[in-house]
Amino acid sequence: MNVYKPGNVKHKTGKVIHRRIEIERVKKMAFKIGVIRGDGIGPEIVGEALKVLQKVSEKYSQEFEYTEILLGGASIDVHGEPLTKEALAAAKECDAVLMGSIGGDTTTSPWYKLPANLRPEAGLLAIRKGLGLFANMRPAYLYEELKDACPLKEEIIGDGFDLVVMRELTGGLYFGDRKTTEENGLLTAVDTLTYNEEEIRRIAIRGFDIAMKRRKKVTSVDKANVLDSSRLWRKVVNEVAEDYPEVELNHMLVDNCAMQLVRDPKQFDVILTENMFGDILSDEASMVTGSIGMLSSASLKEGSFGLYEPSHGSAPDIAGKNLANPIATILSAAMLLRYSLNMDEAADAVEAAVKQVLKEGYRTVDIMSEGMTQCSTTEMGDLIAARI
Ligand code: NAD
Repeated sequence: MNVYKPGNVKHKTGKVIHRRIEIERVKKMAFKIGVIRGDGIGPEIVGEALKVLQKVSEKYSQEFEYTEILLGGASIDVHGEPLTKEALAAAKECDAVLMGSIGGDTTTSPWYKLPANLRPEAGLLAIRKGLGLFANMRPAYLYEELKDACPLKEEIIGDGFDLVVMRELTGGLYFGDRKTTEENGLLTAVDTLTYNEEEIRRIAIRGFDIAMKRRKKVTSVDKANVLDSSRLWRKVVNEVAEDYPEVELNHMLVDNCAMQLVRDPKQFDVILTENMFGDILSDEASMVTGSIGMLSSASLKEGSFGLYEPSHGSAPDIAGKNLANPIATILSAAMLLRYSLNMDEAADAVEAAVKQVLKEGYRTVDIMSEGMTQCSTTEMGDLIAARI
């Protein structure tokens, strides 16, 4: 079977650009997976995701080789810094990296007495930058069994929704020049929003590739009625769309998208957008699902490499108590299988196992409701692994 991956080809201008190319599916003897256990509940939830990957390995006769990588507080404790050069180099050698959350209690942990560049979160920014991860993908999926956690009305939810927000991560307003000056006695601040066509093209290709593995629909979100950067965004997205005739593309203004997410989230498959719009829309999309312990995420670059992690933090308040919900991390592992290792069938099996366990009424404490069976972190991991 052939798959489509982004690659480098010559643009009509003579420049080398990223375009969609067809490549042979490669089945490796062993995939290298970097494992960042992280801080707080990180080691507990990553342990459960590894349990699930072990089951996948057996069932699909696919070997995984694991490389342990220290990041955040765990690295500070050993090396005095949140990410060493060696740790970054080890991550670069992998086909994909699975990560728990990092960081501690920001008021009591000694890590937060260190200068800002030596704190746990500095390691997170450094690894994302060092690995060249320019796209962030956050799914928002409403499980039938957890409908009660959704703040939307029953008639809007219907039989649930399943969308992902693909957000550009390294350009736009958050990375543009900024300054505050005093002019005629008035403080004046300016932030600049810059995108070049290559930055837009590479994330658009990633978005369309993701859509090809889903329901083949992309909604590109911009503010093209006002911003030049959005008009360029729309032009380049239209160009990329020509390489994906199977994918339905529509454009939506960001203010409308914010409304549509709460009015009719079912209409979306892949929402493709720039950095700041994506920051806001991905949080909005997550909140309409209502359960923080269920939300996975991925940071991607060109090709198939990705860093996969839950959307939530390290929850120091419940760390070490076998209470944390490991499902966001297990679903992150499912995304790793699908998007980095091209093991779609295995990813489907993991997602189906999660659904099955919820259907059977098992809940960790954060999603517990009346009449359900409460289980611990390790029990939840065992239950899911057993259903693959
Ligand atoms: P948090 O997401 O860790 O916790 C918020 C609340 O949700 C807490 O009550 C926690 O117990 C609960 N919670 C979170 N995940 C859960 C899970 N899987 N199961 C059950 N309950 C869960 O946010 P916070 O308390 O603001 O941050 C704690 C630490 O995490 C801080 O150091 C912060 O910087 C860090 N953080 C890291 C990441 C990351 O690694 N990408 C992201 C966000 C926050």
